[in-house]
Amino acid sequence: METMTNTLTSKQAMDLEDQYGAHNYHPLPVVLDRGEGVFVWDLEGNKYFDFLSSYSAVNQGHCHPRIIGALTGQAQKLTLTSRAFYNSVLGEFEKYATEYFGFDKILPMNTGAEAVETAIKLARKWGYEKKGISENQAKIIFCENNFHGRTVTIVSASNDPDARNNFGPFTPGIISIPYNDLNALAKELEDENVCAFIVEPIQGEAGVFVPDEGFLAKAQALCKSKNVLFVADEVQTGIARTGSLLAVCGDCSCGKTCEKDPKTYIQPDVLILGKAISGGVFPVSAVFANNDIMEVIRPGEHGSTFGGNPLACKVALAALEVVKDENLAHKANELGKYLRSQLEAIGSPLIKLVRGKGLLNAIVINDTPDSKTAWNICLRLKENGLLAKPTHGNIIRFAPPLVITQSQIDECVTIIGNVLSEF
Ligand SMILES: *Cc1c(COP(=O)(O)O)cnc(C)c1O
Repeated sequence: METMTNTLTSKQAMDLEDQYGAHNYHPLPVVLDRGEGVFVWDLEGNKYFDFLSSYSAVNQGHCHPRIIGALTGQAQKLTLTSRAFYNSVLGEFEKYATEYFGFDKILPMNTGAEAVETAIKLARKWGYEKKGISENQAKIIFCENNFHGRTVTIVSASNDPDARNNFGPFTPGIISIPYNDLNALAKELEDENVCAFIVEPIQGEAGVFVPDEGFLAKAQALCKSKNVLFVADEVQTGIARTGSLLAVCGDCSCGKTCEKDPKTYIQPDVLILGKAISGGVFPVSAVFANNDIMEVIRPGEHGSTFGGNPLACKVALAALEVVKDENLAHKANELGKYLRSQLEAIGSPLIKLVRGKGLLNAIVINDTPDSKTAWNICLRLKENGLLAKPTHGNIIRFAPPLVITQSQIDECVTIIGNVLSEF
């Protein structure tokens, strides 16, 4: 049979996806064929800066040689055993990752949504077995405009009509409060059936909403005072993206989760990671907790055929080493400040606001949320060699791989400035 790869045009590739794939996404019309570092290339060989980084999964840059080396090396040795048996890489990865993030235990899964589901199950079980909540009464507090994934239970906690409509009936036991609202949190925490508060330290999909300084620490203290688990969904914000190893690390960009400086580091009871824990090379996600919480899960009560497979473990090990060795948290912190200052310096009337932390940033476009301006800007950015995607109406996220250099940021800001001046 003839192989079609490499002989396709972008038009043909898009037509194939359109005809044979479910229409559950609305991609920008570009067909990517190759990636290296901060760059991706389309089928015609056009080169682009990647300013989305696969929703912050590719923090280490596309096809990082060390991560790909780990992938191909392990792929020729052993890929999957299931957890019916031990494998020779899982324990090594678990030791490395738990020490890296400062927890007793890790529960490995594959996708972000699975890790969030795992955290929900863990929190509920802890609620019944440790907190003493009576059967089937456990509740979890979520924030409005959250994004935690796409399973039925997770969309039960969403207020996005696109994510919810006609997917009911929904999972009960969910309380919703406004983001960044400590009073609302305190009020809902009065309910003794609450077992957890699940929160994104910065709301990524909602448009890079950074909460007030001190919000996370105060929320954690409130949870602690009511014996409620503080669960951080760092699937998008974690792994150096926001200028520290985790967004809960606050302003420390040392690249380690430092218990040394409790002023800036908030230790969540449960930490959820995904996306960049594998450098975007393989689906790897994980839930971290200390023994007193994780011990409520016993053999047979939760799992995944692929979770903790040796290929995933080797890839994630390499991806985490790269973050440390290349000082990516520190880089994201420095370059993030630089990027925001340069975007502000463009002085375009179309930019209503520049916001973000580290290299998770967004510009809010000065137009109504239902206008096509942000989409049209992204189309023009694409034609000028930069890929970004609008999120929730007129917000454009700018989140390049963390291996970007300052002079590359200068090039990108020039592209952005030129495109904005056309509108
Ligand atoms: C992407 C994301 C998820 C879901 O991850 P998937 O791998 O797409 O299932 C969960 N939480 C947050 C904060 C995310 O950004």
